[in-house]
Amino acid sequence: MQQNYFESMDTFMKVQCYGKNSKKANDVAQNYIKKIESIFSVTNENSEIYKVNNATSFPIKISTETSDLIKFSLEMAEKTSGAFNPCLYPVTSLWGFTKKNYKVPSAQEIQNALLLTDYHKVRLEKNEITLEKGMMLDLGGIAKGYAANEAAKILESFGIKSALLDLGGNIQTIGKKADGSSWHIGIRNPFGDGVFAFLEVSKSIAVVTSAGYERFFEDENGKKYIHIFDAKTGMPVDNEVVSATAVAKNGTYCDALSTSLFVMGIEKATEFWRKYKDFDFIIVTKNKKVYVTSGIKTMFNKINENWTVYYL
Ligand code: ADP
Ligand code: MG
Repeated sequence: MQQNYFESMDTFMKVQCYGKNSKKANDVAQNYIKKIESIFSVTNENSEIYKVNNATSFPIKISTETSDLIKFSLEMAEKTSGAFNPCLYPVTSLWGFTKKNYKVPSAQEIQNALLLTDYHKVRLEKNEITLEKGMMLDLGGIAKGYAANEAAKILESFGIKSALLDLGGNIQTIGKKADGSSWHIGIRNPFGDGVFAFLEVSKSIAVVTSAGYERFFEDENGKKYIHIFDAKTGMPVDNEVVSATAVAKNGTYCDALSTSLFVMGIEKATEFWRKYKDFDFIIVTKNKKVYVTSGIKTMFNKINENWTVYYL
């Protein structure tokens, strides 16, 4: 077994893989994840996204990787009716989330920033992008899922049949554990330490959680502002959801979904799931109700007995 621990995208990461070639495979996967960080970072002046966000004339050339991820992000924006919005940088930076210089902006500042977040205005050709003046991308809601998904593909290309990638809330598995048993993927308790449930998984799958407990700030009255935004209002989401986990084969999809489901709230998320049924979710609400969709019912194991679970 080969385990690599490292920090990237402001997150502690772990890649664990088994079998022949695992050292080499793991190192290549780790390097790839670091490369993704350097492409998609909004703060690193050498990143492609930084260059796009700070360009003074368009179109600007981008790599195929970046183009593909932006394309997918725009499709997700369309599919979720804007719950997922890859153009939120004017809003997320206004609130100080991108550089950790947090503040509560004025209503006017928020309105002004919102005018710059219309994802329909992004013009994307194969390797060229055009943004309107003032528009800026923030792929923070999808980059880690993409990194995990692509890193898993790299491991597979080395013949790895068993692996677990943990990119802080973005889990991706390959196959089963080396001894043939299933993985137990913990779902973090959004109210405290530890996990409140786990998924028993014996196949290649992604499990991605979005929650308000890791990245947030409080104002002088103790009001909490989280890093996931309602793209319609420009405000941090403040609905009944405390954590949203998406489960599907594709980790990029799951990451965009986990953010979207959080924004949608339980009712719209349920509607969305009924419409597409190409993923599953676990959503925990503030009153400790847990909603689990049918596709993962048999994998879902609750640890905390006090919470009510509703199977959809
Ligand atoms: P993390 O795993 O880092 O907690 P999430 O997948 O939950 O990330 O996404 C949150 C990040 O996505 C934010 O830090 C921000 O960069 C970006 N973001 C916030 N709100 C939205 C939104 N409505 N649509 C798309 N991206 C968003
Ligand atoms: Mg996400």
